[in-house]
Amino acid sequence: MKNIIIANWKMNPATNKEAKKLFSETNKKAKAKNTEVVVCPPFAYLGLLKGKNLGAQNVCFEGKGAFTGEVSALMLKDLGVSFVIVGHSERRKYFNETNLQMNGKIKNSMEAGLKPILCIGETKQEFEAHLKPDVLETQITEALKDITKEQVKKIVIAYEPVWAIGTGENCSVDETMTSIVFIRKIISELYNREIADNMQIIYGGSVKSFNSADYIKHAGANGLLVGGASLDVEEFIAIVKSAE
Ligand code: PEP
Repeated sequence: MKNIIIANWKMNPATNKEAKKLFSETNKKAKAKNTEVVVCPPFAYLGLLKGKNLGAQNVCFEGKGAFTGEVSALMLKDLGVSFVIVGHSERRKYFNETNLQMNGKIKNSMEAGLKPILCIGETKQEFEAHLKPDVLETQITEALKDITKEQVKKIVIAYEPVWAIGTGENCSVDETMTSIVFIRKIISELYNREIADNMQIIYGGSVKSFNSADYIKHAGANGLLVGGASLDVEEFIAIVKSAE
């Protein structure tokens, strides 16, 4: 299995011009043999950027209709998008998105031929209250309700502890490894061992080039979801190289 490194630009950069420059420089320099690189810009730039590696940061949980302000999976597919982030903690926190909605987003994305990147992770309070296993299990089980064996094989799961996102407080390798093993156990119970072993499970949360290789080499991660550091081309390329 190839490692996958996903750039989440969040609500950046500020202009079309900057987005085009960042995208073309990232693509030019991020040539990797054993690593798949995916870039997720804001919706507004998706139509301007062309490449197999284009991802969206969100999608509607319904396929079409009266959902003002939303973007459907088919619209994204039509723009040339291949991947979509679902359930990012910023969506859960600021837009009150639920696991039931994640389930709709995953189903619609898969029907449209998009590959979902399902983000899960516990908050600081949940971590300190030793609720991480319960939180991860609920997030996975509810988001994957009625998703078939064939479909689940195409999903990427991103373990992103909420307290590690954008804080500089990256999760330790041991803690990440424990979470990834636990996620495989849940997938094995919901589906089977083979699917769990082959599932692409990645880590996200304050990844920088000085810590990125540890997650791939020692925590069992099959890739990384990179936020802040993906806006700095040299730093992002160093992260991609560290995964090779
Ligand atoms: C993210 O946006 O998913 C993320 C992990 O952000 P950062 O790398 O900035 O912590």
